Amino acid sequence: MITVNDLHKHFGSLEVLKGIDAKVEEKEVVCVIGPSGSGKSTFLRCLNLLEDVTSGEITIDGDVVTDPKVDINAVRSQVGMVFQHFNLFPHKTVLENITLGPIKVKGESEQEANENGRSLLEKVGLSDKADMYPDSLSGGQKQRVAIARSLAMNPKVMLFDEPTSALDPELVGDVLEVMKDLAREGMTMVVVTHEMGFAREVGHRVLFMDEGVIMEEGNPEQIFENPQDPRTQSFLSKIL
Ligand code: ADP
Ligand code: MG
Repeated sequence: MITVNDLHKHFGSLEVLKGIDAKVEEKEVVCVIGPSGSGKSTFLRCLNLLEDVTSGEITIDGDVVTDPKVDINAVRSQVGMVFQHFNLFPHKTVLENITLGPIKVKGESEQEANENGRSLLEKVGLSDKADMYPDSLSGGQKQRVAIARSLAMNPKVMLFDEPTSALDPELVGDVLEVMKDLAREGMTMVVVTHEMGFAREVGHRVLFMDEGVIMEEGNPEQIFENPQDPRTQSFLSKIL
């Protein structure tokens, strides 16, 4: 579903991604771990064309999205992204937050978008919140709205950038449950997370990033029980 070849990203003279090669299969859940500043967010943002890449090639479902002629909006609607901070529109209701993209970008009718939006709210356990404003929701509820909003675009891939890191601990579980459901339904997912329980239970593969490269990758058991690289070992010893 995703192929990344020798991806480099510079911010001015700072080289943040130093040659990333990665593949994500259809229906695969890949978790990305690594220290702060190692380039995890930049990597995800490149996949979604929120950053323009300095060099290298990214292919998503057969389309070379790093081709300068690509339709950026078309790519973004195929690649959903959920951020640490939910980025909901505060002056729109929960349902309006979800239907805006489908109506504006995909040309769905209001009725179609509303029906779809309501069923997505049901899926994330928030049917009763459709007409509320984001401010009246808890962080965990906001994040579930943000997931529903991404799903409303019917993406082929979902990217999650530390979706639970800003949440109070007791709110994390509901968000992870929604993500687990998505994984079970066969969504292709790339998840930057420090939730090792989630990575072990749901992740098919774990990538350890450090200083702009993928230092080590393997299945969750290999990475968590038997990491090979000293930097993976050191990182895990700090967080586990
Ligand atoms: P992580 O998500 O692993 O913590 P990031 O991808 O956010 O890492 O950041 C990697 C490096 O890139 C950091 O040194 C960060 O300061 C730098 N960086 C990220 N975004 C920008 C930007 N827009 N301009 C300049 N430097 C940036
Ligand atoms: Mg980050």
